[in-house]
Amino acid sequence: MIRHIRPSALMAIVCMVTAIEARGAGNETLPLADLHFHADQAQSPESVLEAMDRAGVRWAGNGPKGADPNWRAYVEAARDRFIPFGGQGAIGTRVQQQGEAAWNLKSADLDRYLGALEQGLREKRLRGIGELFVNNMHTHAPTFQPTRYPADSPLMRRLFSLAVTYHVPLSVHMEADPSSIEELERLLATDRNGIVIWAHCGFWIEGRDVQAMMDRNPILMCELSHRDDRRHNPRLRAGDITGAGRTLKPEWKTLLEKHSDRFLIGTDVDDPGQYADIIAFYRVVLAQLSPEAAGRLANGNAIRLFGLSR
Ligand SMILES: [Zn+2]
Ligand SMILES: [Zn+2]
Repeated sequence: MIRHIRPSALMAIVCMVTAIEARGAGNETLPLADLHFHADQAQSPESVLEAMDRAGVRWAGNGPKGADPNWRAYVEAARDRFIPFGGQGAIGTRVQQQGEAAWNLKSADLDRYLGALEQGLREKRLRGIGELFVNNMHTHAPTFQPTRYPADSPLMRRLFSLAVTYHVPLSVHMEADPSSIEELERLLATDRNGIVIWAHCGFWIEGRDVQAMMDRNPILMCELSHRDDRRHNPRLRAGDITGAGRTLKPEWKTLLEKHSDRFLIGTDVDDPGQYADIIAFYRVVLAQLSPEAAGRLANGNAIRLFGLSR
């Protein structure tokens, strides 16, 4: 029963409730940028755009499944909504086939491809590089061989240098082993003008360790796919940023606020049936953040990074 409540206190409660409702309502309609989307020839761009529209996702990008030109039909369908990256299939396949010759840049074939990649970047057909699989020993797709090579190998240094030259981010899938982290930090130290997006934000690394890495490396960004609460393939090692009821773990809440300009949303769904639920996960997460941080994660950081028009 409400007794003895002064009108001013009651007004404060009403304002608080209204503010929470407003935050929730705003979040439901915030257009999202999904930075872990692999264009797939098996799906039509129209069906993907429909799923994006239903979920309120305005932009989607990263490397296509297969070769770089697999982006073409998507970009032709909606140039202002897809953000094509290059290199994922072309470099991944060569690393698998050629091993050390590829990551040590001793492959004439890879060298020719890197020329084509640079041309795509120069002509602005490609707006990012990746996703590169430098360490996916416990986080590879069932159809994909696990690989591991140094995150600061000559190949990665060359790609990072291209990323810096053409002002595009480099997306790196790398499990959070201490030696891989050391390599990545060496790569980041080679040029503070680039941006590396750590795909899946390290899969299982704790928030406090991500925070320490971000504090040390101002050019490191993190993309959050697979750190949601989806039912993962049991062989895939991953840790959620939330606990029961999709409540953010305190260290992650602190981190997403502290470095709100460094996080991106990503879905990375193989099963399109999971798409809406993963977007729903993000909306629950965004509702737990300040409106400023929520806006940056939802789309502000992607708009800044890729010069997207709202
Ligand atoms: Zn990945
Ligand atoms: Zn991926």
